[in-house]
Amino acid sequence: MKYLVTGGAGFIGSHLAEECLQNGNEVVVLDNFATGRRDNLKHLEKYPHLKLVQDSIMNYSRMVELVGSCDAVFHMAAAVGVEYILENPLLSIQINFRGTDLLLELANKFQKCVLIASSSEVYGRNNKVPLREDDNRTYGSTAVVRWSYAAGKALDEFLGLAYWQTTHLPVVIIRFFNIIGPRQTGRYGMVVPRLVCQALRGEDLTVYGNGQQSRTFTCVYDAVKAVRRLIGMPEAYGQVFNIGGSKEITILDLAKRIIELTDSKSTIKIVPYEQAYQSGFEDMERRVPDVSKVEKLIGCVNPTSLDDTIRSVIEFFKDRPDIR
Ligand code: UDP
Repeated sequence: MKYLVTGGAGFIGSHLAEECLQNGNEVVVLDNFATGRRDNLKHLEKYPHLKLVQDSIMNYSRMVELVGSCDAVFHMAAAVGVEYILENPLLSIQINFRGTDLLLELANKFQKCVLIASSSEVYGRNNKVPLREDDNRTYGSTAVVRWSYAAGKALDEFLGLAYWQTTHLPVVIIRFFNIIGPRQTGRYGMVVPRLVCQALRGEDLTVYGNGQQSRTFTCVYDAVKAVRRLIGMPEAYGQVFNIGGSKEITILDLAKRIIELTDSKSTIKIVPYEQAYQSGFEDMERRVPDVSKVEKLIGCVNPTSLDDTIRSVIEFFKDRPDIR
């Protein structure tokens, strides 16, 4: 198979490109390197079946060429990370909505299967535990920038599903829940790389709010294996799947675990939300996925333990003190 991976130099995209190459496929990575990094792909240059294209997903003629010449598309390109979204509100909406609109238009024209990376953010502040794919979305005001990301991703999902319903375009939608692992940076807000870097540098670990908010974390290696399998399954077409973990951990406990695993002398610093983010920022107390739908189709999607995943993040940053 020849896969186009948009955003293939990013965190999840580069692991997905690697997973596809390791399984004997051809991969074309499209990335504008706004948040993706060349280094994420350096070790893959040995694969003759990897092609790297630096361009925007909004370049129409380039997209015609790339979508037209592949067998299937993993659409991973997106503006991601709470901080990036808050700092780039307009660009984030344009990339996340216009980019997907264009991609789906072309995939439909050439009848290519598409897997769209969506996010648990789509559920908004629905605190139900666990969250099922057909649960409600609960959003705040349009004055709160965070919700533009959730709304944009939801619109991507509506669009993908509408193509499936209207033209039978094979579309699979994945809602990722806090995927972590090597190559993710803390630059745009993600908690695990950020706390690991702080611990390795002996700085205070910044825990926002009271630290009692919780998340489930999933190793990126597990996530990309699941994704690669789903794109080839006709039963998955026209469907939305949660991909995430089942074990909850509070951010305070996560910080303690990271201090233990790094053997760091750092301490924990509680930072009020008003200092950490823009005023009016709304955090989610809990976010736990119901993964029974995807597990029915492909089995367990998160076999790697949190400790092992954190260890792989520690190893990654130990070798690269220049990255944050
Ligand atoms: N968080 C934190 N310290 C940090 C970065 C994030 O306490 O340095 C918190 C954040 O407020 C949230 C949780 O960690 O409650 C997960 O944040 P992340 O941005 O990784 O993911 P998301 O909020 O999208 O689940």
